[in-house]
Amino acid sequence: MSLVERLRADRNLPDDELKALLETDRFDEELYKAADEVRRSVYGNGVFLRGLIEFTNYCKNDCLYCGIRRSGKADRYRLSKEQILDCCKEGYKLGYRTFVLQGGEDPYYTDDILCDIISSIRSLYPDCAITLSIGEKSEESYRRFFESGANRFLLRHETAEESHYSKLHPPELSLSNRKQCLFNLKKIGYQVGTGFMVGSPYQTTENIISDLRFMQSLSPDMIGIGPFIPAEGTPFESFPQGSVKLTLRLISVMRLMFPHALIPATTALGTLHPQGRELGLKAGANVVMPNLSPVEYRDKYSIYDNKICTGEESAQCKDCLRIRIESAGYEISDSVGDVKRIN
Ligand code: SAH
Repeated sequence: MSLVERLRADRNLPDDELKALLETDRFDEELYKAADEVRRSVYGNGVFLRGLIEFTNYCKNDCLYCGIRRSGKADRYRLSKEQILDCCKEGYKLGYRTFVLQGGEDPYYTDDILCDIISSIRSLYPDCAITLSIGEKSEESYRRFFESGANRFLLRHETAEESHYSKLHPPELSLSNRKQCLFNLKKIGYQVGTGFMVGSPYQTTENIISDLRFMQSLSPDMIGIGPFIPAEGTPFESFPQGSVKLTLRLISVMRLMFPHALIPATTALGTLHPQGRELGLKAGANVVMPNLSPVEYRDKYSIYDNKICTGEESAQCKDCLRIRIESAGYEISDSVGDVKRIN
């Protein structure tokens, strides 16, 4: 059996073989094909859309890679509850059945304010999923958000090795807390997503293998990866961007290791390659997260440079995506798109 066939059959490989697979492009075509077969066997040819609402670019953290870090020069904004609900209304009309509230870690949004926003969305859209992507909070806060109606949470672990984590983050942030947050979210009952950047500064193949091992211990429902893209004004502004090819290869590897995971073809991938998201889908991804934020704020949520889709109305984005998804051989699914936890 080839390496790819064994990865598919065992959903696992020893470290040295994973390394061999990740460090060459020799297996890429075989990987994409196997990943696409597995994705179709679990989820068919449907692509789930998630409407992304970037509701604040204020952040109390100072992650070295991020364009909206505390000490960066981003032009700051916050959306009001009414603005957020307007985004949901627009998204619902366009057929979106998942709303993702993403933002910096902004203390302005207290637990009370967030619970009020979440419960309003929940009562207006009982048939929709509410995903949060708002960083590290206490277990108690996560529980309150869940009880208010949020049911999914995205929190990339960013890198699973301490030595690498400390090169990407200021000393007050810890990998152990971030991992603990992920296990807390799972315990509470959220569908949980994690992930990392591909080609972040100082990342090695060994780091990536640690990321895969950490994900095996977590069993995430969603896995988001995208290439690192330098952001102007950050300490990493002159570092090279991550590789599109390695990102695609990893999407395939993750599809084979985690057949039931919801895996987005990320905006970062689409930013570095004109067909990045289509290629991501063909490599095993089955989710796309179009932007639902009001157009006038989109370019301010500049976590990295040259982000795509910042100038288009949400409806235009939807039309553009439909064409892209269909051209890649898939179709938009109108279901809420929960994870299929079958083994
Ligand atoms: N504050 C939230 C949301 C962060 S933004 C949180 O902490 O989870 C979502 C993701 O964007 C991050 O998890 C990170 O992996 C990614 N990201 C940040 N800066 C990036 C960059 N320069 N290039 C590519 N991805 C980046």
